[in-house]
Amino acid sequence: MASYDVIVIGSGPGGYVCAIRCAQLGLKTACVEGRETLGGTCLNVGCIPSKALLHASHQLHEAQHNFEKMGLKGKPPSVDWAQMLSYKDDVIGQNTKGIEFLFKKNKIDWLKGWGSIPEAGLVKVGDETHKAKHIVIASGSEASSLPGIEIDEKTIVTSTGALALPKVPKKMIVIGAGVIGLELGSVYARLGAEVTVLEYLDQITPGIDTEVARSFRSLLKRQGLDIVTGAAVQSAEALKTKAKVAYKLRKDDSEHTLDADVVLVATGRKPFTDGLGLDALGLQLTKRGQIATDAHYKTSVDGIYAIGDVIEGPMLAHKAEDEGMAVAEILAGQAGHVNYGVIPGVIYTHPEVAAVGQTEDSLKESGRAYKVGKFSFMGNGRAKANFAADGFVKILVDAETDRILGAHILGPSAGDLIHEICVAMEFGAAAEDIARTCHAHPTYSEAVREAALACGDGPIHS
Ligand code: NAD
Repeated sequence: MASYDVIVIGSGPGGYVCAIRCAQLGLKTACVEGRETLGGTCLNVGCIPSKALLHASHQLHEAQHNFEKMGLKGKPPSVDWAQMLSYKDDVIGQNTKGIEFLFKKNKIDWLKGWGSIPEAGLVKVGDETHKAKHIVIASGSEASSLPGIEIDEKTIVTSTGALALPKVPKKMIVIGAGVIGLELGSVYARLGAEVTVLEYLDQITPGIDTEVARSFRSLLKRQGLDIVTGAAVQSAEALKTKAKVAYKLRKDDSEHTLDADVVLVATGRKPFTDGLGLDALGLQLTKRGQIATDAHYKTSVDGIYAIGDVIEGPMLAHKAEDEGMAVAEILAGQAGHVNYGVIPGVIYTHPEVAAVGQTEDSLKESGRAYKVGKFSFMGNGRAKANFAADGFVKILVDAETDRILGAHILGPSAGDLIHEICVAMEFGAAAEDIARTCHAHPTYSEAVREAALACGDGPIHS
């Protein structure tokens, strides 16, 4: 029986980052993973492969729409789908192998197989049981379908099946206009599929700033995505060669049906804790089935901790990573901490959407007096040169102190630009601090500075 200071269950971004940090802090560490490769959902069937397909399909879009304008003549390329999938698989392989290398480098044992916890202090993997002073559950999440809808991962698919379709469908229905639905919906729309997105709410991307969501919707429409909001999906059924989806429009209860070659169910995810033996341990769950923890990621059972998608909070790889580092530091006797007020969210469509901190809605609700500084990418020279001038940066600041409370970006590289504001927020900065910082010209980041200037005496280029 091998003995460890820490055994981490799950090697997704939460688990592998936690294992690496534990090892770096001198703890003897193992990580349990049942998949053939490390990296969890994110690296194998989530963030990374979807980014490969988003990148490839965006290149096609550029070739079809912008090359000629720049004097690049010739027919736009056609899609070799098998090659695109193999490019995606290659990207997955490079990333998952990278984690294997990091495990070796940090002397972390990979316990191959699906783990369970027979009692605190023990982790069983296959026929072997290992001892651990501390156990960290980082087993992630799985797609949650709608009642009565059976996923076959061929015709009715989750994001996993959507990343490995045998061919580009002619018609695709996406249920749910959240992050997954819009990222993968836009991939297939760019590759030529007729995509209809059905969303229960009246707005796409729940939780995102209302003004951003509205502009984002019209940009997606321009790219060919047909988005129906207020549509409650009742059923989705795989027939012989296609699928049928029935939905009701909430405004008038009218019933509608649509058919398609593929239906992507993107209605959220739920914690994945199957087989861990949590019931027998008496480990406390929240009402939503997440593992309940205290502020130090400690569960109701001594010696067992949990992080990432299995606990409360946004299901985001980087939130899990930060919790992984924080719990490692706590186990090593340090003061690990995550600032949940500054966790960015990004949608990797084109243009991208990024947000951090408060929205106007949440500020209004809390009654806090705020000011808005906004700047359109139309006023940004670099964006105009790159056919990327759609969208804007919006910074929300305290009306009295100018302290940054939140930011929302729709535009090119929004997912990278948001971090300037995250760092500023971590330092408790005012918009004026960004406004007085020299930004290289010509860059997209000048739009962030202009929005910060707009919180004060006004931007220069609008
Ligand atoms: P989501 O919660 O983002 O969106 C689900 C959408 O489905 C919601 O808009 C909801 O109103 C809608 N919906 C639910 N029931 C419906 C019904 N009956 N008919 C029509 N619409 C319905 O969920 P997701 O897109 O599946 O993503 C799952 C999780 O994974 C999220 O927490 C997301 O943040 C995370 N994720 C993040 C990224 C990223 O950071 N870029 C990428 C992929 C996934």
